[in-house]
Amino acid sequence: MARIIGGIGTSHVPTIGVAYDKGKQDLPDWSPLFKGYEPAQQWLREKKPDVLVFFYNDHLNAFFYDLYPTFAVGVADSYDVADEGAGRRPLPMLPGHPGLAAHIAESLVNEEFDPAVFQDRPLDHGVFSPLPLLWPHKEGWPGAVIPIEVNVVQYPLPTAMRCYKLGKALRRAIESYPEDLSVVVVGTGGLSHQIHGERTGYNDTDWDMRFIELIEKDPMELARMKHVDYIRLGGAESVEVIMWLAMRGALSDEVTKVHQNYYLATTTAMTVLVFEDQGEAKPAAPHAGNPQLEGVKDIEGTYAFDIPTGRERLRLNRFFWNMKEAGFREAFAADERGACERAGLTAEETRLVLERDWLGLVRYGANFFVLEKFARLVGRTNLEVYADMRGETFEEFLATRQVPGAR
Ligand code: FE
Repeated sequence: MARIIGGIGTSHVPTIGVAYDKGKQDLPDWSPLFKGYEPAQQWLREKKPDVLVFFYNDHLNAFFYDLYPTFAVGVADSYDVADEGAGRRPLPMLPGHPGLAAHIAESLVNEEFDPAVFQDRPLDHGVFSPLPLLWPHKEGWPGAVIPIEVNVVQYPLPTAMRCYKLGKALRRAIESYPEDLSVVVVGTGGLSHQIHGERTGYNDTDWDMRFIELIEKDPMELARMKHVDYIRLGGAESVEVIMWLAMRGALSDEVTKVHQNYYLATTTAMTVLVFEDQGEAKPAAPHAGNPQLEGVKDIEGTYAFDIPTGRERLRLNRFFWNMKEAGFREAFAADERGACERAGLTAEETRLVLERDWLGLVRYGANFFVLEKFARLVGRTNLEVYADMRGETFEEFLATRQVPGAR
């Protein structure tokens, strides 16, 4: 069974990343910050968690206002580092944990949280500002990360209470995962800061200290606060500390704070707290897979499209999805095999495409709603594709319909 052993609250200021990459760790202005992470790094070295679940927000790097999810669980095998305007930081690719991530997404949905899921999108300083300070990575990262993105950039944001309850649901998800894994939950952001408007540069150390006390001892008081309270007390962008509540919700009531560092240098109060979880793990009945789909494999001729399929067959589904673009359609029509090669399709995938093996494609993991685009391109109607999947001629299929003439 997977188990939460502790939690970390940490700032995710981008300048930490810049200072880190420039090797400023020992300069007097920076060392109080970097030294402050060393006990956290030491604690992780001793505890050796397999997975860090990171509540973070994306700062309009991987997501934009055309689609900004309130909650989104990363289900990828690995994550790249976002280029935030100054080039990609020299950090290794970050391994994900697709099995636990898919389980978390399925479990949250079954608890009536409905996160988006994502893959193939980079992570920004919401994760990569603090991560190198927590985990050494010269030989590669020592474990996996599951990123859970939280919208703190476009109102309406999820409430602080919703984030706290999300943490509690995350704990139940983790404790129902059958594999023996040790997990640390990380909440990122803040503390007090404001970086826009005339109030730019606002801080309040008294409030920061109160927040640090409450997150440990009375998180419900924080969970009851409105966004406007956070803005008033800590500055507009400090509202992102609601992500610490998601972390705290994932821990039991009894925690021991084993480390704290607070350093306010310029505009953001940079903080790291480490909590050890003292509560009993209450393992839910372990289950693998989505309970809503138990038994679906016994329903003949039916292939439920799920997160593992979406992840494992991303390349092929994207190949068909790209057929929305006229240029892609023209390139395919001109040289089918070449288009498959350029898309990196395997020999098996290429065969399925070239042979128009509709049923084979569905069984392999192509979603019908991208296959439709392929069908249009090669001059087949949906009805013709349906007939083909049923192993019937078009006329035979139509004869099974209520109104065979409605073609
Ligand atoms: Fe932020």
